[in-house]
Amino acid sequence: MSHANDTATRPSLSFEFFPPKDDAGIDRLMSGTASRLSAFDPEYFSVTSGAGGSTREGTQALVEKLVRSGANAVPHLSVGGSTDAEVGRLVEHYRNLGIQRILCLRGDQPSDGNQHAVFARDLVEQLHQRFPGQFELSVAAYPEIHPDSASAEEDMRYFAAKVHAGASSAITQYFYSPDAYEYFMERCEKAGVHIPVHVGVMPITNIDSLQRFSAKAGADIPRWLSKSMAGYADDEKGLVSFGVEVVTNLCEKLLTMGAPGLHFYTLNRWGASSQICRNLGFPEH
Ligand code: FAD
Repeated sequence: MSHANDTATRPSLSFEFFPPKDDAGIDRLMSGTASRLSAFDPEYFSVTSGAGGSTREGTQALVEKLVRSGANAVPHLSVGGSTDAEVGRLVEHYRNLGIQRILCLRGDQPSDGNQHAVFARDLVEQLHQRFPGQFELSVAAYPEIHPDSASAEEDMRYFAAKVHAGASSAITQYFYSPDAYEYFMERCEKAGVHIPVHVGVMPITNIDSLQRFSAKAGADIPRWLSKSMAGYADDEKGLVSFGVEVVTNLCEKLLTMGAPGLHFYTLNRWGASSQICRNLGFPEH
């Protein structure tokens, strides 16, 4: 595939991990998935943070391990449930580790019903003012519209506010309809938002967890895809290879449309993500 082979225009690749529960899990992730995916020379590995900062120590521990291994690490920082002072201390720590980019998020709302009254924009503004020029600040984007937004226009207004507050790149929620990305980029154009919007890619490896996760995240699984996946209910291997084909085709279309990079939600597994990258022609070292 020409997009991934041409070094001058090669799209960026990044891989997302969630923090394992303990040190042994981190070591397994580092020697397994992270090591396998390093072969694609990704721009960075990002590390999620749980709702209300609930995995903050785990996020920090994995970020530190990645940095020590020589990789670029990008911590997700979710603002809900933390004081400005706590956020400031953590970000100083990340700066001292040499972290150059932070993904700024409101975070999922905690399940205890204590809704956050702050938004990702506030975090971007805080970091932009407190650490001027020291980090690239990235934010989330929703081609299929964030579930809390009443309309596409409202969603774009708040997305643009994050950019005006200092965000210089974005990563999308995953989606399986390329039109969603095309219309989102058109809305960005109309709103005067001109930052790179990297595509969040969710490989298809497990029907139940994909459906559960998609319902929560407001990500649409088109009917044709849902019905096709159902045909693999008792065939995990068949599902994975069907999923790899579907997601490879999706990525090809998005790269042809000019998507500047792919960000894989790996769920800490390497098989499907690496096969998709290989199919797309990303060189493996
Ligand atoms: P915001 O940009 O703050 O938007 C949230 C909602 O509020 C939107 O509907 C927006 O339109 C609306 N809004 C914004 N500003 C205002 C305002 N001033 N007044 C009224 N409404 C407003 N979650 C985690 O917990 N941990 C993670 O590590 C994590 N990683 C993610 C990585 C990516 C790439 C993506 C796409 C999502 C990730 N999420 C993560 C999920 C994310 O936290 C949720 O989707 C969350 O519900 C919204 O976060 P946000 O940063 O997009 O919020």
